[in-house]
Amino acid sequence: MPHFINVILPLPLENHFTYSISEPEAAFLKPGMRVAVPFGKSKVYTGIVSGVHQNAPDVYEAKPIEQILDKTPVVTTQQLKFWQWLASYYMCTEGEVLRAAIPSAFLLESETIVQLLKDAEVDEMALSDDEFLLFEALQRQSAMKIAEIIQVLDKKTVLPVINSLVEKKVVVVNQEIYEQYKPKLERYIKLHQRYSEEAAMHELLDDLNRAPKQRQVIFTLFSHTARSSDPLKAKELAKKSGASSGTIKSLIDKGVLEEYHLQIDRNQFEEGDLDELVQLNEFQQKALEEIEDSFKTEDVCLLHGITSSGKTEIYVELIEKAISEGKQVLYLLPEIALTAQLIARLQNYFGEKVIVYHSKYSVNERVEVYQQVLQNSEKARIVVGVRSSIFLPFHDLGLIVVDEEHESTFKQYDPAPRYNARDAAVVLGLMHKAKVLLGSATPALESYFNAEHSKYSLVNLNRRFGNVLLPEIEIVDIKDKHRKKRMTGHFSDRLLEEIRETLSNKEQVILFQNRRGFSPILECNTCGHSPQCPNCDVSLTYHSHNNQLRCHYCGYHIAMQNKCMACGSVELSTKGFGTEKVETELKALFPGNKIGRMDLDTTRGKHGYEKIINAFEQGEIDILVGTQMLTKGLDFRNVRLVGIMNADTLLNFPDFRAHERSFQLMLQVAGRAGRTEKRGKVLIQTYNPHHQIVQQVSTNSYEEMYKEQLEERRQYKYPPFYRLVRITLKGRDYSRVNEGAEWLATSLKNSFAENVLGPEFPPVARIRNEYYKNILLKIPQQQSLSKTKKVVSKILQSFKAIAPYRSVKVVVNVDPY
Ligand code: ADP
Ligand code: ZN
Ligand code: ZN
Repeated sequence: MPHFINVILPLPLENHFTYSISEPEAAFLKPGMRVAVPFGKSKVYTGIVSGVHQNAPDVYEAKPIEQILDKTPVVTTQQLKFWQWLASYYMCTEGEVLRAAIPSAFLLESETIVQLLKDAEVDEMALSDDEFLLFEALQRQSAMKIAEIIQVLDKKTVLPVINSLVEKKVVVVNQEIYEQYKPKLERYIKLHQRYSEEAAMHELLDDLNRAPKQRQVIFTLFSHTARSSDPLKAKELAKKSGASSGTIKSLIDKGVLEEYHLQIDRNQFEEGDLDELVQLNEFQQKALEEIEDSFKTEDVCLLHGITSSGKTEIYVELIEKAISEGKQVLYLLPEIALTAQLIARLQNYFGEKVIVYHSKYSVNERVEVYQQVLQNSEKARIVVGVRSSIFLPFHDLGLIVVDEEHESTFKQYDPAPRYNARDAAVVLGLMHKAKVLLGSATPALESYFNAEHSKYSLVNLNRRFGNVLLPEIEIVDIKDKHRKKRMTGHFSDRLLEEIRETLSNKEQVILFQNRRGFSPILECNTCGHSPQCPNCDVSLTYHSHNNQLRCHYCGYHIAMQNKCMACGSVELSTKGFGTEKVETELKALFPGNKIGRMDLDTTRGKHGYEKIINAFEQGEIDILVGTQMLTKGLDFRNVRLVGIMNADTLLNFPDFRAHERSFQLMLQVAGRAGRTEKRGKVLIQTYNPHHQIVQQVSTNSYEEMYKEQLEERRQYKYPPFYRLVRITLKGRDYSRVNEGAEWLATSLKNSFAENVLGPEFPPVARIRNEYYKNILLKIPQQQSLSKTKKVVSKILQSFKAIAPYRSVKVVVNVDPY
């Protein structure tokens, strides 16, 4: 009997592909192992085995595989099931999920580029002949493709060799898109060789008689080496001897001490350094009990706890319980870069049991984390990560925490799978029989709705920790202030007063403006022209620090213009304002204070955020201006005042969620004020002081906002009452996109009538020279989701079969907002 396997290829293919294998291979192969297989004319891909069987495919002849790449599965059967769910729910292929789900280093294929790992420590004796050959070849040639490696090694089956070198940390694959892997180094101190003799030592101590601090350092080091052969960290030496880093440095300069560096594991903690869990206050305790109670009968719980109510400590208690039962924990965060604070807190409690999965991690770091989780290692009991960490190979999840569950960054927009990690985490939890806790001060409308309708349980926490009061919120009517000439630039007299007072008390200020750049739009007073991006349908944004006009969609930029590009007039004016403008005005108004800015432009690079956040924490910045990055879970102790420069840009966003999002953003940014005893203050500047959302923010009325917004959603047929599927067509040929969209909308309307909206151009209808057109499908609650998707898929297939529309790309997005 012939044997076959089904293989998931990392390509957008509807079906699994079948390959033929030998009898011994059939006995060896298990679902979740990697195999190298031929596909297409002459390409080789790495695929994942999804099943072993004896049924030959009907329509094609199964080709044999090239190689088995694993001894044991790298993908668990749970993951395979989860991928299936993701593909069917989000209307993409399992191949697309596979690509997102496992580190690219696992997916060697014809186009893979192999390079030596920089600064690799290579034990040449530990390499096989083939491995050594490749290692040597890579020293002559900095990067090689698989095809070239096949030539050098003179054999077809090179993927196992590369895999093994990846594991031995000799080579990296596809590195060019990522940052280089940098092992973390720790500084150690030792006594210079010449003092190893006792006599020399005594002489030294005598010499240092008149330098007691230095003497203490030597003494500490001496008694350490007497007791232990472990190296001593510079940090510890300073701590134990009570010496400053200056004292130690002068001993190094004298040649008495020597410093050296050792590579440390990214997550290394000594047990003794761990903090005890804090004592919960009565409100936290009650919330914890309610959550645990609900977990006896329900799987998902929503914790609605106001900002600074101490939700994290409750999570910590639940995490502690789960790991003490030997389970794994997943802690999902909207964005890692902004939460170094939180990670530090978790590591203080759980030490090296915490592992972090970062969006800016390099290929190697991702592989490391993936392997630790796969091996169910003690170093990966608690995974803290961004949305993509739902793809890690968990064995036995006991708890999933989704912190700031309302955040839109849990949704992936591009490429497929276009999943929402919060929603997917609920499904993942069910598969593992794990409990799921969603936490937020401003829950997503859907989550609150689910809680109200008993899909989730609901626990409230209405007190800030330490009985700190919620900040006092004041609304400033800037239309009125303009009329009365009480505005200085974009600052009302009230905001300026409060800033002055805060600064004079040596406290800090946060100013929120949801737009980067200087003055978004440059306009000619004579002819009305404003410079546009040639590739996208948007105006260019002025950035003063480099005197450029930039496109925020494609990065196109030109020098700032002194004359109108259309009529040549020099009378140009700017409209609107961004963070950079706020910063410039502040510098003029408060020349004696340090002003910092946090937005996409100042936080590029791996440590961009950390630098700014640290400087603010250390008090090196008095006023921090920023975009919505400021809202995410930061805990600053000394901020008394938060100013929202202009609420209206948020409220007027063309999206059915604009009001919900404005409420969440404003309340979250307000929550940064007054986290200690002294009550904080929030000023909201707006042209619409009576807008219901502004009012609801000022009175902290989540429930009221929820009821009102829910009513609107019901009326206008939006989630949670209707599910949405957005179909976007895009292409370089304007009329093809237009015709295609009409065709598709018409076909959809045949099946779904008035629940099809569009086609419509989005607000920015052309990006990077591609035209966009959207169709929105609304699915009522009583209509079967899976049947609907089947019909949609059929229609899309017919669409793709029409020759003139081949050049039009179709993107399907389920739950797009
Ligand atoms: P939230 O996440 O709800 O906004 P946090 O968990 O950040 O709030 O807590 C706010 C502050 O209160 C933090 O600085 C935290 O260290 C402190 N805190 C919370 N609970 C306790 C506790 N039980 N004992 C001591 N400090 C606590
Ligand atoms: Zn002009
Ligand atoms: Zn552009």
